[in-house]
Amino acid sequence: MDTPPLTKYQMVINGQPVDSASGQHFESDNPFLGKPWALIPRGNAEDANRAVEAAHKAFTAGEWPKMNASKRGALLRKLGDLITDKSEFLAEIEVRDNGKLYAEMSAQTAYMAQWYYYFGGLADKIEGAVIPIDKPDTFNFTRHEPLGVIAMIIPWNSPLLLLAWKLAPALAAGNTVVIKPSEFTSASTLEFMKLIEAAGFPPGVVNVITGYGAEAGTPLVEHPRVAKVAFTGSDTTGQKIYESAARGLKRVSMELGGKSPNIVFDDAHLDNAVKGVISGIFAATGQTCIAGSRLLVQQSIHDQFVDKLVAFAKTAKMGDPMNMDTQVGPVTNKPQFEKILRYLDIAKNEGAKALLGGTKATRPECGSGWFVEPTIFGGVSNNMRIAQEEVFGPVLSIIPFKDEDEAIAIGNDVVFGLAAGVWTQNMRRAFLMSEKLQAGTVWINTYRAVSYMSPFGGYKRSGLGRESGQEMIYEYLQTKSVWISTATEVPNPFILR
Ligand code: NAD
Repeated sequence: MDTPPLTKYQMVINGQPVDSASGQHFESDNPFLGKPWALIPRGNAEDANRAVEAAHKAFTAGEWPKMNASKRGALLRKLGDLITDKSEFLAEIEVRDNGKLYAEMSAQTAYMAQWYYYFGGLADKIEGAVIPIDKPDTFNFTRHEPLGVIAMIIPWNSPLLLLAWKLAPALAAGNTVVIKPSEFTSASTLEFMKLIEAAGFPPGVVNVITGYGAEAGTPLVEHPRVAKVAFTGSDTTGQKIYESAARGLKRVSMELGGKSPNIVFDDAHLDNAVKGVISGIFAATGQTCIAGSRLLVQQSIHDQFVDKLVAFAKTAKMGDPMNMDTQVGPVTNKPQFEKILRYLDIAKNEGAKALLGGTKATRPECGSGWFVEPTIFGGVSNNMRIAQEEVFGPVLSIIPFKDEDEAIAIGNDVVFGLAAGVWTQNMRRAFLMSEKLQAGTVWINTYRAVSYMSPFGGYKRSGLGRESGQEMIYEYLQTKSVWISTATEVPNPFILR
C-alpha cells in the first residue's frame, strides 16, 4: 500500500501563511501508527521577531486598537460558532497528532467553544470605577487596559483546549497574541488559525510560530516587545521561562505539573470511587496535569478497594484512538513513551510492586503505536520517586493511610499542588479536606471536572495565576488611574497633592 504524502503546514504571521525563515521543517508523528504524518515549519528567532513585530503593530495601529469591546466580543462569539461547526474536524486532527481518544477530543473541541462565548460576553462588561477621592476639586477614575503582546506557550496534551483558556480572555481584553504550540502537536493550532481568519480578526492580532522550545520558544519569551508570557507545561520549563521573564520584568502566568492525591475514605461509595480513580489516572492515558497519580486509600478498606480497582482497570480496552470503544490510547510521543518506561523501572527498583501492568503494551490492537499497559503499583511509600515525581502516563501509585490527619499530611507532602480528589459521604470530612489540602482544585466525589466559569490553577510548584472564571480576565489587563482637576488655580507646586 502506498504511504500517503506528509501534510505540509505553514505558520501564520500577520494573517499570512508563511514558511519558517530558515525554510526548514520537522516531522510530526501519529502516535497510534508510530509514524510521521505532517511537516511543521522549524521556526527560529527571526520568525519569533517577525511574529512579535506583527502583533505589536496590530496592537498599536489599525483596526484592533480602535475596535470597541462589544465588537471584540462579537468576533469571539463568531469564533465560538465556527469552532462548534468544525469541532469534529479539529478533534480528528488532535487525535492524529496526539493520540488522545476521539471520544474525549470531540467532546473537548465542542466544549472549548464555551470559553470563546463566555469571554466574548465578558469583553464589554469590564468597567472601571469612579473613586470617591479625598482631594478637593478632583475627579479620579480607573480604566482597565490591555497589556500588549502576549506570548502563549502551549504543551502537547490538550493543545486547543489549553490555548482557549488563554486566548479567549486575552483577546476579550484587547491584547494581541503570538502562540507557540508544542513541537509534538502543532497541526491543530495551525488548522484553528483558519477559523480565526474566518471570524474576521484583523491580521496580526493572532499569530502562530512553530518549532522547538529552545529555537522558537526562547526568543519569543525573551523578545522585548512581549508584555506577558502565558505558559502551560512542565515545572522545569516553567522555571526557565519565569527566570527569563524576570530579566525582562514581564508578567507571567504558569500552569504547571502535578502529583495529585485521589483520597478514598472507608465511608466512600466504593464503586463510584473506583470509577473516579480510574478516570483520574487512565483517562487520556494519564497524560493530564490533573492526573490523580497517587491513590491514598484508608487502611481499613485497602485490600477490598484495591481488588475492585484492579479488576475494573483490567477491563480497559486499548487500541486505535479513533474507535469509540477504545478506553486507553497511545502515549503522545516517543520521548514521553520512553520516559514512562524509565519510571516503571525506577518504581520497581525502589521496591514498588506492579499489581497491574508495569510494562509497555504489546497487545495486537496496539500495533506499532507507543502504548503502555495501565499500571497500578502497590507497596509505595510517599517518599519514593514514583510518588513524588510527575510521570505523565497511565501509572498509579497506591499509598495506604490511617486517618484524616495522615491523609492530609501525605496528600500535601509533594512539591506540587494542582488538584486533589476526596471520596467520602461524610460532609464534615469533605469540608475539612477541602480546607486542608494544598491544591488549586479539590474535587469531592468527582474528578477531572473543569469549566470556563470556575478558576483553575496551581498551588506551590503547580503554577502562578488562574485560568477560567470572570476574575482571571484581569490577568490580561492593567489598571490606569486618571486624575482630572477642576480647580481654577494650581496650588503650591512644592507640595505633594
Ligand atoms: P514542556 O514544558 O516540555 O513544553 C511546553 C511548551 O514549552 C512546548 O511548547 C515547548 O516547546 C515549550 N518550551 C520548551 N522549552 C522552552 C524554553 N526554554 N523556552 C520557551 N518555550 C519552551 O511540557 P510538555 O511536555 O509539552 O507538557 C507536559 C507538561 O505540561 C506536564 O508537566 C503537565 O503537567 C503540564 N501541563 C499543565 C497543565 C496545567 O494547566 N497546569 C495542563 C497541561 C499540561
